[in-house]
Amino acid sequence: MTPYILVVEDEDALSTLLHYNFEKEGYEVALATDGEEALTSVSERLPDVIVLDWMLPKVSGIEVCRRLRQRPESRNVPIIMLTARGEESDRIRGLDTGADDYVVKPFAMSELTARIRAVLRRLRPGLAEDTIRCGDLSVDRVSHRVKRADHEIHLGPTEFRLLDYLMQHPGRVFSREQLLDVVWGTDVYVEARTVDVHIGRLRKAINRDAPGPDPIRTVRSAGYSLDAQR
Ligand code: CA
Repeated sequence: MTPYILVVEDEDALSTLLHYNFEKEGYEVALATDGEEALTSVSERLPDVIVLDWMLPKVSGIEVCRRLRQRPESRNVPIIMLTARGEESDRIRGLDTGADDYVVKPFAMSELTARIRAVLRRLRPGLAEDTIRCGDLSVDRVSHRVKRADHEIHLGPTEFRLLDYLMQHPGRVFSREQLLDVVWGTDVYVEARTVDVHIGRLRKAINRDAPGPDPIRTVRSAGYSLDAQR
């Protein structure tokens, strides 16, 4: 699973350098050059991690961070802030606003990538591991095997991607449009109710002869989520 990283930086040279290095690290990279663009980008597709510059045109990095933390869907996305040297009080304010870590400019690329890996390991262990578990469900992403309470479940490729994505973000609610973007991709036209059809198939498969309650929650007028605690 390729982690999807959003870089929000208005300095072209730095943003190009980050893009290049993150791709080399195996990440899928998106760029935004100001705060407004960053907020739009996040609502279109949720990143696995955000590298956010403090000083940005239009909406500052700190304000972007604050707004992302207010939205339920982006409340838990790891955010690493880039700050200028000597802004100690700003750094503390950044962490107060909900940033997970910060790196002081100028920085070594190896330091930033190490911080990103650490944040992902801590907050999104599913991205780093071959097998992810949630309750009595487990997904092996190498062999594509899915089990519930040790019983093997056979899923179609779309249902597999849906479950894999939901299991990476237990407890988080995704709209049909967000699921369409990550599971089907942004370049195909699929109707939102197609998501309902595949969620229906996924539900049927994982609940057949299952010992526990349905782990997939339908959130009225919002979308779907996978229960973290069952
Ligand atoms: Ca800047």
